[in-house]
Amino acid sequence: MTSPAHSLPVPIPRWAYAVALVALVVTWLVLQENGIALGHAAETVHEFFHDGRHALGVPCH
Ligand SMILES: [Zn+2]
Repeated sequence: MTSPAHSLPVPIPRWAYAVALVALVVTWLVLQENGIALGHAAETVHEFFHDGRHALGVPCH
């Protein structure tokens, strides 16, 4: 019988937080952008990700 494993702290590099932040912003743009941040380009982004938005259940129309 083995003793329960003690988890060791996993070092998280600082750049990983920046990558996570960028990923969150991109996710927000894809899922919620309706012209507030991207203005005229929002229509293009919306059409590009339209099917993906519906597949994820994001209401858009
Ligand atoms: Zn739609």
